[in-house]
Amino acid sequence: MTALAELLLRRIAATGPLTVAEYMAECLLHPEHGYYTTRDPFGAAGDFTTAPEISQMFGELLGLSLAQAWMDQGAPDPFVLAELGPGRGTLMADLLRATARVPGFHDAARVCLVEASPTLRRKQRETLAGHDVSWCDDVGMLPPGPLFLVANEFLDALPIRQFLRDGIGWRERLVTVVDGALAFGLGAVTPLGALADRLADTVDGDLVETCAPAAAVAEAVAPRIAARGGAAIFVDYGDWRSKGDTLQALRAHQPDNPLSHPGEADLTAHVDFEAFARGAQGAATSAMVAQGVFLERLGITQRAQQLADGLTGAPLDALIAAHRRLTHPQEMGSLFKVLAIHPERTAPPPGLER
Ligand code: SAH
Repeated sequence: MTALAELLLRRIAATGPLTVAEYMAECLLHPEHGYYTTRDPFGAAGDFTTAPEISQMFGELLGLSLAQAWMDQGAPDPFVLAELGPGRGTLMADLLRATARVPGFHDAARVCLVEASPTLRRKQRETLAGHDVSWCDDVGMLPPGPLFLVANEFLDALPIRQFLRDGIGWRERLVTVVDGALAFGLGAVTPLGALADRLADTVDGDLVETCAPAAAVAEAVAPRIAARGGAAIFVDYGDWRSKGDTLQALRAHQPDNPLSHPGEADLTAHVDFEAFARGAQGAATSAMVAQGVFLERLGITQRAQQLADGLTGAPLDALIAAHRRLTHPQEMGSLFKVLAIHPERTAPPPGLER
């Protein structure tokens, strides 16, 4: 049993079951035993691999899209260049390298990273050595000014709650203790105004998820972008509306039971982009598009051909595999979606449409 499992068993015995959101928050960010707090989980030796870790092309293309949006808005100087949940800092490093020759972009950028994990902050400092970077704990604490922001696989790490339809009410899925082990249970049937619209597209026994912290991100970013300009690009797995249980645990690249190794497995849920976009009041949101389509529109194939020039053998095969992994519908191309928040008066960043 993990150290965190023991703590949670005692806590539940003392004060009652946890919501899935409370459980997820403890698993991911408990100050001593949290998954992100204690480790660098990325890459072959870790638990999962993300798009920026697969290929430099991902961060480069996102960077060029943001830089074009910045130019289209009159190249505001200064502006905040932010990333939420930067992991190892790879995406930001690729973004900065790709935009180095965009006139004025680096001089005007105040790079600010929103990162909860001290371990990953250290890693980001290493990766971004040579750049002037600052950190903050929450998107609401970003410095003021026009905001150009990117977030890859950040929203999926934010805690969700789960509700099972029962008549015209809902039973919340809870984490409780059965026979000395963590187990799922259900709360009492409660009518919930916040889920009133889901009565139309669900039947008894269906499960729906809500993610208040993701909506809060949209609520923090949208009014700033509306008032001061900017654009925020979010890439994540999920769909326009979530239905069903999407809570998943990954450990050493294998699916795991979400209750089996608290603090030692990555826990995520699919992003409900409809609910997220609803939080972006005051600004416009782009249409949601599949990652593969987005990257093709930004020229990933041409970029891959450029990088392939002069490569042979294993490095060439790796590049071809990376291109396929990022774009192919059977890999990350369809499951991952992209959506931007942008000012009403401007077009969304390149690669996206209204
Ligand atoms: N964007 C990176 C990492 C994705 S993993 C990549 O694509 O490789 C999720 C990241 O979000 C990690 O850096 C994690 O520490 C961070 N994170 C998770 N929850 C957070 C929170 N509530 N506040 C700030 N950062 C958080």
